Amino acid sequence: MSQTNGQTGGQTAVHHGRTLDLKLCIWRQPGPRAEGRMVEYDLPGVSEDMSFLEMLDLLNERLIAKEQEPVAFEHDCREGICGSCGMMINGQAHGPQLGTATCQLHMRKFNSGDVIEIEPWRAAAFPIVRDLVVNRSALDRIVEAGGYISVTAGAAPEANIIPVPKPVADAAFDAAACIGCGACVAACPNGAAQLFTAAKVAHLNLLPQGQAERFSRTEAMVERMEEFFGSCTFHGECEAACPKRISLENIVLMNGDYVRAKFKNRRLAGRR
Ligand code: SF4
Repeated sequence: MSQTNGQTGGQTAVHHGRTLDLKLCIWRQPGPRAEGRMVEYDLPGVSEDMSFLEMLDLLNERLIAKEQEPVAFEHDCREGICGSCGMMINGQAHGPQLGTATCQLHMRKFNSGDVIEIEPWRAAAFPIVRDLVVNRSALDRIVEAGGYISVTAGAAPEANIIPVPKPVADAAFDAAACIGCGACVAACPNGAAQLFTAAKVAHLNLLPQGQAERFSRTEAMVERMEEFFGSCTFHGECEAACPKRISLENIVLMNGDYVRAKFKNRRLAGRR
C-alpha cells in the first residue's frame, strides 16, 4: 500500500555536493471538501543528489520538527514503477524531465533560488484526498471493464507453440509499460484518459492470447472510460507528459478496434 505521509521511516540519507536553497509553493488542502491554498516554504540546504521525493521528505522532517503538519503526497516504489507519485511541478506533470516519473526526477534539474510550484493532479475525475494526494480509482474502473483475459487458458503452454513476431511483442511490451500514474489525464486540456486506456487495451489486443475478447474488451473499456473522463481531441499533451513514453499510436489502434467492434455488433444484430 502506498504511503501518503511523506515519511520514509528512517533518517534522510546524507548527500554531498552542490546544495540548493529553494522556495516551495505547495497546495495544502486538509481534506476532500476543505478549501485549499498555496502555501510557501523556504527550504535551504537541499542536495542536488536528492530525488524530488527525498526533497519533500526533508521538508516534512523540518515541518514535523516544528510540530507542523507534514505535506501528504503519495509514494511507494520510488523506482518509476508503481505510478503513485504523480504531481504537477511548475505546471508540468512529473516535472521538467521528459520520460521521468516524479520519484526519479533529481534536484540537479533545479537551481538554487528557484521557486517550485507543486500541485496535485487537476482533473475532474481525480478528486483531491489531501494536499497532493488524489483519488485515481476512476482508472481502476476502466481496467475492471476489460483489462484482463478471461478465457480458461489451462496450464502454461510451451512458449514456441504461439509464435509472436518480435515487432508485435515489442509493441505490446511498450504498451504494458504504462504505470497508471494518471499524468496523461492531468496534462490533457480535456481531462481525457485515452492514452491510459489505449495502453491497457493495446498490450492485450496485440497478443494472440488477447484476440478472443479483443472487440468486446475495447468496447467495454472505451465506454467505461467515457463515463468518467473527457473526450480526446488528439492534443498530444498526454504523450509528452507520460513518464513511460506511451505512444499516441496506441490510441489510433484503440479507435480502430472500437469502430470494428461497433460494425461487428451491427452485423450480429442484422443476423438475429
Ligand atoms: S499512459 Fe503514461 S501518463 Fe498515462 S497513466 Fe500510463 S504511464 Fe501514466
